[in-house]
Amino acid sequence: MNAYQTAARALAEKFAARAGHWDKSRNYCWQNVRELCDAGLMGMTIPTAYGGRGASLHDVVLVVEEIAKACTLSARIVVEANMGALSAVMAFGTGSQKRLCAHYVLAGDKPAICITEQEAGSAATDMTTTALRKRDHYVINGAKHWITGGGVSKLHLVFARVIDRSGCDLGIGAFLLLRDPERGIEPEGFRVTGQEHTMGLCGMPEARLRFDDVKVDHSMALIAPSGLRHGFGDLMMAYNAQRIGAAAAALGVSAGALNRAKAYLTERHQFGRPLAEFQGLQWMLADMDTKLHAARLLIHEAAQSTHERDERFPDPTMAARAKLFASEAAIEIVNNSMQMLGARGYSDQEPLERMYRDVRMFTIGGGTAQILRTQIAGSILDIKTPQRRHAHYEPYQIAAE
Ligand SMILES: Cc1cc2nc3c(=O)[nH]c(=O)nc-3n(C[C@H](O)[C@H](O)[C@H](O)COP(=O)(O)OP(=O)(O)OC[C@H]3O[C@@H](n4cnc5c(N)ncnc54)[C@H](O)[C@@H]3O)c2cc1C
Repeated sequence: MNAYQTAARALAEKFAARAGHWDKSRNYCWQNVRELCDAGLMGMTIPTAYGGRGASLHDVVLVVEEIAKACTLSARIVVEANMGALSAVMAFGTGSQKRLCAHYVLAGDKPAICITEQEAGSAATDMTTTALRKRDHYVINGAKHWITGGGVSKLHLVFARVIDRSGCDLGIGAFLLLRDPERGIEPEGFRVTGQEHTMGLCGMPEARLRFDDVKVDHSMALIAPSGLRHGFGDLMMAYNAQRIGAAAAALGVSAGALNRAKAYLTERHQFGRPLAEFQGLQWMLADMDTKLHAARLLIHEAAQSTHERDERFPDPTMAARAKLFASEAAIEIVNNSMQMLGARGYSDQEPLERMYRDVRMFTIGGGTAQILRTQIAGSILDIKTPQRRHAHYEPYQIAAE
């Protein structure tokens, strides 16, 4: 076990006792965030030149698995404070953008990545939020929904269609927007207009955001080196790490559930024998354990892989495989763990019912299981898989479509 994992395991013991509290109160787990900061697990992937630890993606997945065994909410925070928007900024950002993000994340901020819109979910490039390019700034207009952390996050990476002054659509770029009310930083026109009421992962805001003529300085634009026309694909390439993080969170929840089931099978007796002696349950346990190990291997393979076009990023197909398998396996493993506890598993005195609600999200958020299958199939067959009728074949098709 490496030092990061040891630190994460120690924190997970404390987090386990509080996980039910965050779930029931639906409060953001600030206490856990402070402890994650103190342990150096927020922004651990930030290069040392910017004050981070320069940890690898593999280090992060080890940490995420440990934390998720106890508290899915905290594990998601670790994912987004090391991957997602942060990966994109650290890959393509300017020095000042990297310094700004490092400063906030190391102090406990979980950046929000703002892509999804009402009419642009899986078809992310159908987004209609615009960034009108003016001489020295952009003007953002539009709305996003299901934005994780909206309302608590200070850093936002907002994806928008860049329009020039003649109305020409130049492609999709991303814009760093800082909202820090405690320091009086509240961009005019940027509002949190609502929150989704979710079945699980309670305590993590899923916000609706609105942008009405929000001015963003040119220096806050994050444009991938391939330019705006193909830049969305590059920005999403950085996002692939987040998929591996989400897979690691699903894996951790599965491992936590399996541990609970295993303990219960030896504690609980029926027909005068421990449940662990019944072959029907032993075989369930064997299947669960096998899937858990397979998921872990896929995740570790993906975390240690490199993209053929840019070795700073993981291989997108391996990331998709890891997330697809780990998220579906997690739903099954948590469900079967609950079954093994009988009525007790259905009680809110047990963490399993919370895990069951939490883990359901992972086949939806950050690329659905269907979209990931389409991506994997395209890679196997070495074909583009455009989903639009009468699709226009672009030289590079982004994964999310
Ligand atoms: C908890 C949570 C957190 C999230 N956090 C963020 C966030 O921080 N930032 C952000 O930008 N977004 C976020 N999202 C949004 C998420 O990325 C989208 O929900 C996801 O991309 C799917 O979009 P949709 O919900 O609009 O579903 P839709 O795209 O409408 O899809 C509905 C169903 O149809 C299927 N489907 C769609 N197209 C196809 C196809 N071509 N072939 C086969 N099946 C298809 C989908 O797989 C799905 O089952 C979050 C979502 C959740 C649930």
